[in-house]
Amino acid sequence: MTPKEANIRSEFPLLREKIYGKYITYLDNGATTQKPRCVLQCIEEIYEHYNSNIHRGVHYLSNKCTDLFEQARHTIAEHLNAREDAEVIFTRGTTEAINLLAYSFGETFCKEGDEIIVSEMEHHANIVPWQMLCERKRMTLRVIPITDNGELVMESVEPMISERTRLIAVTHVSNVMGTINDVERIIKIAHSHNVPVLVDGAQSMPHVRIDVQAMDCDFLAFSGHKMYAPNGSGALYGKREYLDKMVPYHGGGEMIDHVSFKGTTYNVIPFKFEAGTPDYVSAIALAEAIRFMESLDMDYIMAHEQALVQYALHRMRSLEGMRIIGDAKYRSGAISFLVGKIHHYDMGMILDKMGIAVRTGHHCAQPLMERMGITGTVRASFGVYNTEEDVEALIKGIMKATAMLG
Ligand code: PLP
Repeated sequence: MTPKEANIRSEFPLLREKIYGKYITYLDNGATTQKPRCVLQCIEEIYEHYNSNIHRGVHYLSNKCTDLFEQARHTIAEHLNAREDAEVIFTRGTTEAINLLAYSFGETFCKEGDEIIVSEMEHHANIVPWQMLCERKRMTLRVIPITDNGELVMESVEPMISERTRLIAVTHVSNVMGTINDVERIIKIAHSHNVPVLVDGAQSMPHVRIDVQAMDCDFLAFSGHKMYAPNGSGALYGKREYLDKMVPYHGGGEMIDHVSFKGTTYNVIPFKFEAGTPDYVSAIALAEAIRFMESLDMDYIMAHEQALVQYALHRMRSLEGMRIIGDAKYRSGAISFLVGKIHHYDMGMILDKMGIAVRTGHHCAQPLMERMGITGTVRASFGVYNTEEDVEALIKGIMKATAMLG
């Protein structure tokens, strides 16, 4: 472990916890990450010193919290290189962001007979809201297939687009296989047909630098809790040209301009999409997590995690009976595997007893499991605090579990 790695780990109190008498090896970052001390302190500080509902008070505390909340929006907008803060809508995470988009975009721009395109490797959060829209409006969902290696069949994208295509919704990084999709190319193809693109950034925001203007995506959804921020934080980025036209998703306080029983007019973006009291504490702490990541340097995070994934792949491939699901050229974050005929759940249980936290199951990607002819996998997913020592613990754990179960 390098001094820098040790320093980073020392910022995460949970990594010093013992489970069954052993220090935890936490390899479930694709599900959620642990929180650095600065994020935990930020939450405590707000509740101890500033807590008050935002956007509606004339008093000091309310103004202070409102400022912190709007500064957090600015921090996120800057991190994403959005054109303006108003293009960042706070949500509780990726799922809420995609549901918001599927409803508001769907109600505004879609009609019977239209089509939405997703891919075969999507998380359910980027499938089901579109299926619900398709059911509501009698539309069709089309699916970009994937190769045996777990990469999108890029040649199939353009022929799938027609004058009925309203949106392409695709993940940046697969939560199962770690595949990094060439979303820039998809966006170029889509835009040449005037079709907007949503990028599901749930698994890319923690690992790679995202510049929404350079990428030119029309929408991007992400979750704070997967990038060292609290649960209940996240955002939908969207281009003003779409957000301005889209109808609101939820109705209630703060999203209105004027309410009367004759009719209601709506607030401007982003407030039009933020009805009710948001989780402003988590949103403010999300900005703290972004400052933490930037202080480590996104280039360092990317390089460290890429090297770790390559090291893990190299070590895992030497194990007997190892089957790694997906072998994409560009990958990040997650490695899914199976060993011999051992059930993923049994492998996960034995690893747990050795203090190694991995995820097992279908990872909310059942269509992908079907495509790969499996019911589930064991998934090791990495964060900035993981080290080669964690990989070695995993390898030792897999060998022991294999000896017991194989
Ligand atoms: N999209 C992807 C690719 C994911 O991996 C996940 C969660 O694992 C989601 C969407 C949903 O994220 P959340 O549960 O934070 O809303």
